[in-house]
Amino acid sequence: MNTTTTKICTKCDLMKEITQYDKQKSSKSGFKTQCKSCLKIYTKKYNLDKKKQIKEYQINYRKKNPEYYIEYYKIHKEEIKKRHKEKGYARNYYIQNREKLIKYQKDFRERENKKKEIIEEI
Ligand SMILES: [Zn+2]
Repeated sequence: MNTTTTKICTKCDLMKEITQYDKQKSSKSGFKTQCKSCLKIYTKKYNLDKKKQIKEYQINYRKKNPEYYIEYYKIHKEEIKKRHKEKGYARNYYIQNREKLIKYQKDFRERENKKKEIIEEI
């Protein structure tokens, strides 16, 4: 029976409650060597890298296999057109509301500056 209640994370070097670690049967202690929060950061980064990798792979694949995408386009033509139309809609929204958005940003910046001035005066 393992009675350890705390464990030092190999990543952040902090002593943490054993409940902060995920179980891992294959390891000697029965728990992972890194705490949950470190693993979370790692997983997030890993997922981001993975996403990037997939995207790069897709771009490369597209370059190497243009026929595949021509076929794909033929089959999904309507869907793609629809999607592009929706994207175009978003762009139009931006153009139509550009002035408003710029004004909003400007107002926001002015408000922030005023806040700063007040703080500095105090
Ligand atoms: Zn940690």
